[in-house]
Amino acid sequence: MPTILGGGVAGLSAAYYLTSRLAKKIELFEKSTRLGGWVRSESHPEKSLVFEFGPHTIRSKGLGASTTMELVEQLGLETDIYPIGCSSEASKNRMIYVKNNLCTLPSSLIDMFKTTPPFSKPLVSGFLQDLRAPSVKHSLDDESIYNFCKRRFGGEIADYIISSMICGICAGDAKEISVRFIMNDLFEKEQRHGGVLKGLIKDYFSKEIKKMSNMERFALMSKDAKLVESARKNNWSIYSFKNGMETLINSLNSNIKSKGVTVNTNSECKQITFTTNGAVININGKEIETDHIIGAIPSFKLAELVKLQHPFLNNQLKDIQYVDVAVVNLKFCSKDLLKNDAFGLLIPPSENIPILGVIFDSCVFNMSGTVLTVMMGGKWFEKYLGKNPSQSEILDIALEQTAKILHINEKPDMFRVNILRNCIPQYTVGHKKRIEEVRNYIEKNNLAVSLCGAAYDGVGINDVILSAKTQAYSLLKL
Ligand SMILES: Cc1cc2nc3c(=O)[nH]c(=O)nc-3n(C[C@H](O)[C@H](O)[C@H](O)COP(=O)(O)OP(=O)(O)OC[C@H]3O[C@@H](n4cnc5c(N)ncnc54)[C@H](O)[C@@H]3O)c2cc1C
Repeated sequence: MPTILGGGVAGLSAAYYLTSRLAKKIELFEKSTRLGGWVRSESHPEKSLVFEFGPHTIRSKGLGASTTMELVEQLGLETDIYPIGCSSEASKNRMIYVKNNLCTLPSSLIDMFKTTPPFSKPLVSGFLQDLRAPSVKHSLDDESIYNFCKRRFGGEIADYIISSMICGICAGDAKEISVRFIMNDLFEKEQRHGGVLKGLIKDYFSKEIKKMSNMERFALMSKDAKLVESARKNNWSIYSFKNGMETLINSLNSNIKSKGVTVNTNSECKQITFTTNGAVININGKEIETDHIIGAIPSFKLAELVKLQHPFLNNQLKDIQYVDVAVVNLKFCSKDLLKNDAFGLLIPPSENIPILGVIFDSCVFNMSGTVLTVMMGGKWFEKYLGKNPSQSEILDIALEQTAKILHINEKPDMFRVNILRNCIPQYTVGHKKRIEEVRNYIEKNNLAVSLCGAAYDGVGINDVILSAKTQAYSLLKL
């Protein structure tokens, strides 16, 4: 009987993909009283309001996007979706706050040829720099995304665009995060051909067939789903659910239960002991035998469970650092408090401002009043918020910053403050190699465990679902 540890989106998706092809009994163990992990929504339909405490939206492009859309379709959630098209203001307008100014990032080809603040040159000059920059002399295995972008495209792009983007994606420091986290392809093109543009052009005309990874192969399986076609036709950029992201969790939970999966909440795994034909897991003090484990819990938690028997795994897994994020949801009565119709704003770390960014929920979704989510902390949690800030201290900083940056001085009529400890893994330089070593060790020692979730193959919802599908299907030898 396969066992799944963790009832976040990764664990629930793994159960979904296993049950779609396997008749065996499956058990899932979740430590807390609820399912969903970081996916948590508070919906107030009577007020046309959803507060998201974790993820707000899902990308409709990129590897993994079609897998999630196919899953959404198979769960029958098409009419629950809230799509946001590429041409909407919320999707086009992304802002950064630099030198006390809100600056809208270029969003069209024409914009790339204009000089707009905070840049001193048009963004297209970044591509020229890539053509002029010297070829790499010694091939690198990895480097920080900040260094790579500074080398290839210039300091302003690294400082303002990349550093803000990394704050937005993983609340991390671009100077520490691996280039392979979100620019693996561009980095490899540079390493192979001496430059990014040169590499893009050469690969475009090359007849060489690249070997597909399992993840790419499983992602391709979903490309013909009807929802994928609809998203393509209507040019979606991102989407969410009318009643919040937790819609996906509730539906996954009902689906897997209806297919016979036993879902146990309040069930913490305290230890794993691998045996010759599987493993014994200790759940709240009770020993249970299993033939395979899908580990869909944070890597530092898994590290503790295997520490006694596999110190190497323990060391590698606990090297993956996590950051804390404070999320403040604010609802103001007045409708038009925001001067800009946009997705939100991000703040590069060089500005030394105690928030990471703000999502303009009421611009992105149809909500009453003005609704914002202020994200704080991440890599700089302790520096700006201290070790153990109270909720009211965090709320005060969020309100102070929204007043300063967005000129909103009204008192919110509703708010929520959540401190999410160890919520986002940091893919620091060397992450890809570390994960390869972990998986090689598991294979070499024939350990009955597969790893999926945010710590390994990407931190977005799409990545997590695709990693669950890949591990489930690989286990089923598909
Ligand atoms: C603030 C925030 C905003 C985000 N925004 C976005 C976004 O807009 N778009 C996007 O695509 N992604 C976003 N993400 C990322 C995305 O939400 C996460 O990567 C994803 O939810 C992780 O899912 P998971 O199942 O891998 O892990 P988790 O959600 O961490 O789930 C793991 C589960 O395992 C349980 N567990 C832990 N230890 C044990 C144990 N010993 N035994 C049993 N159970 C255990 C935990 O209680 C938890 O429920 C965001 C994340 C955060 C924190």
